[in-house]
Parts: sequence; C-alpha cells; structure tokens
Amino acid sequence: PKVLRWFDEHCAGSKRLAERAATVIPGGVQHNLAFNHPFPLAIAQARGAHLTDVDGNRYIDFLQAGGPTLLGSNPPAVREAVQALLEDCGPVTGLLHAYEVQLAERVCRHMPGVEMLRMLGSGTEAVMGAVRLARTFTRRQRVIKIGGAYHGWSDQLVYGMRLPKTGRMEATGIPRGATAHTQECLPNDPEALRRLLRWNRLRGGTAAVLLEPFGPESGTRPVHREFNAQVRALCDEFGALLIFDEVVTGFRAGLGGAQAYFGVTPDLTVLGKCLTGGYPMAGAIGGKREIMMSLVGGIGTTSRRAFVGGTLSANPLSCVAGYHALLEAERTNAPGVAARAGERLRRGLEEIIGRRGLPYVAYNIGSIVHLQTSGVLLLDTSSLWKLFRLKDEARRRKHMMEEMGAAFTAHGLISVAGSRLYTSLADTDEVIDDALNRFDD
Ligand code: PLP
Repeated sequence: PKVLRWFDEHCAGSKRLAERAATVIPGGVQHNLAFNHPFPLAIAQARGAHLTDVDGNRYIDFLQAGGPTLLGSNPPAVREAVQALLEDCGPVTGLLHAYEVQLAERVCRHMPGVEMLRMLGSGTEAVMGAVRLARTFTRRQRVIKIGGAYHGWSDQLVYGMRLPKTGRMEATGIPRGATAHTQECLPNDPEALRRLLRWNRLRGGTAAVLLEPFGPESGTRPVHREFNAQVRALCDEFGALLIFDEVVTGFRAGLGGAQAYFGVTPDLTVLGKCLTGGYPMAGAIGGKREIMMSLVGGIGTTSRRAFVGGTLSANPLSCVAGYHALLEAERTNAPGVAARAGERLRRGLEEIIGRRGLPYVAYNIGSIVHLQTSGVLLLDTSSLWKLFRLKDEARRRKHMMEEMGAAFTAHGLISVAGSRLYTSLADTDEVIDDALNRFDD
C-alpha cells in the first residue's frame, strides 16, 4: 500500500496518460518490457543514466529499454551524427548509403563469426532470417533451440515450451504446423542435445542449433562456460549450423560479442537492438561468407536463395546510429566500463542481501545483473560456472518481483520487472552508489 500510495501521490501525469493509453492501445503499453505495475510511467526525458517522467520524477535507468542503450540514454555523439544525416538525406531512400557499408565493415572487424552482414528490421526478423538461411544452406528443416529462450515472436520460435523450468513463453494464434520443425533442448545438457541430433539424423538432419550464448533470457538461466564449445562441437559432428542469438550480448559482452568472450565462433550471428544503440530498425544476420551468399540471387551467387528483406531495412538512420554507436563504444570501451558498473552493482546488492538476510541472490554477467529469489545462481564468472538451486520459491517469485519492481520504481530505480538490471557506460561509481542506497531503502 505504501508503494501504491507513492505512485498516486507522485505520478498523476503518468497515470492520466496511462488511462488514455488503455482506451486506444491494448493493455496500455506496447514495449515488451514496459513495466506496468500499478501503471506504466510516461517518460519525458532520457539522458545518460537517468530517466525523468512527465511528473518530474527522476530515475536511475537499469531497464535500458531491454538492453540496447549500452552507451547510456541518448548519447550526444550518436544523436549529433543522426541529426546531421537527417539534414542530408532524411531517414530512408531505398538506395545504398555509405553508412550501410561502414557499419557492416565495423561489425565484421569486431566479430569473429561475422564475415558479411545483412541488416533487417528487428531481432525477431533477424532470427527468422537466420533460421531460413540455415535451412536453405543445409537443405534441412529442423531447428533446435536451447532452453525456453526468447528469440522474438515469430510463429516458429515463440510457443508454449513443454519442457519443465524453461520459462514457458505463452503465445496463441500459432498454427500447429508452424512449430513442426522446432525442437527444444534444456541448457547445460550436451548429452540430451546429442540424443536429439542423433534422432534427427535418421529423419533428415538438423539445420541449426539456436542459442543465447549466456543462457536463455540474457543469462536468467545461465549456461556453463563449456556449454557453448560443447554445442559447437556437436554442431560440427552432425553438420548443423550453430546460430548465436547475440541480440543482447552483441556489444554488451564486448565488441566481439559473446563469441569473442567464449572463444567459440558460430556459423551465424543474430544481432538486434544493441546494434544501433537503441535507434529503431535494429536487426542483422552476420556469418560466414559462403553461408551468407545464400541470401542473394543472380550472377556469381549460389542458385539457392533465402529471401529476406524489408522496405526500411538498412535505412541510413539505423546505419548512421549503429556506426556511430560502435565508434563511441570503441572510443570509450563501453562494454568494459558497463561491466565494471555491473560488478559494483552486484557486489553492493550482495552486501545488502547478506546484511539484511534477504531471500535473494544477485549475480552478474558483465553489464547484465540478475536479482532473483529462486533458480540458478552463477557463482563464479571468472572460471567455472557452477549451478545450484536455491530453496524453491517459484510460487512467490512472480508476485515478489512485481512488488519489488514497483517498490524499486518508487525509490527511483527502473529495472526489468524487479529482477534484471542492465548497466551502461553512463553508470559511474556515484550513480551505482546512489542506486545501492535506494535498493537498501
Ligand atoms: N533475441 C533475444 C535474445 C532478445 O532478447 C530479443 C528481444 O528482447 C529478441 C531476440 C527479439 O528482438 P526484437 O525485440 O528486436 O524483435
């Protein structure tokens, strides 16, 4: 009640807008992660580490729109480059722009598994494209996804997972046939994956294994350090392509992505929101040249073609933002700085949890900090990733996280539903220490 009272007393403008929104927008919110308990906040200004709402309340932003704003909100270097581009040619022409090439060159230079890059409109589109490309290249149909990971909302990949403890993703309106060639395998179980690949081999084989290299949901269910290499070896053995979904880890885990972090090179890489530093139309497939060439038709290319595309794909606005976001991340070592902020935040949260005897665990993988009441805990990020299960509190979890998320907001902290916190280049020691005082409250 105290928290709800805070919203009533301090967020009248947000509440009014939320009420209007609910009459014309289903559910009143449109972003996947817009936290709407008790109602969504309306943001008027975003700068660096902070968001300010229409009522003038200022928050430390650990939602970061779900991950893309590694440089902090609205970084001037990117904004100024975007403004200059808009002056020159506006957001789209439908023809080639130098920034498309410059961005692709830059990504190829950083990411070991990316020799060519194809821009698309979103992470969802890019995963769909990568799967289509893998099917075209291997001439096989089955795709295995690891764990109940979110890979966007396409029919074939978002559906009620039938495996236990995978964070079932509910979606209806999907014809049964759409998922006929999608299979699931739990993380950290190479033997189960081998069995599935062997089973598939007798039935036309496996086109690709798709995974988030830190584990489903940005590491909410973390994987062992060796797991990625084990999956790589199994893909090689069975002739399946390895697809890394680096929509979150691409540039957050380092400019070379999780593939450089783990030293495991996938055949295809999917990039998304982090690619443009949060500017719209962010999605890309990257990969080995011989595979990527199946994306084009015509003279000098393979005859088999996986068509992907979009009117606004690779528009100059997205590409200028992506190019300058990457330059800025290089100049400032944004992934490293954000990871250090993540460490400081996690250490502080652990101290609070210990001192107050709270039923929570905090762990971080670089700039992705998890705060959970139950589930698996990453004990040691530097060497072996050990897993253990805390006392089962799953029933209470959602409830607590909702209430905690709202309580955090009322204390000036925006998180991903009270359980995940992204840090950025803008999170100085002062910002993190300010946040920790608020968490302690
Ligand atoms: N893959 C991962 C790992 C994601 O986190 C997301 C979005 O949250 C997607 C794919 C889908 O990306 P988009 O929201 O741009 O369609």
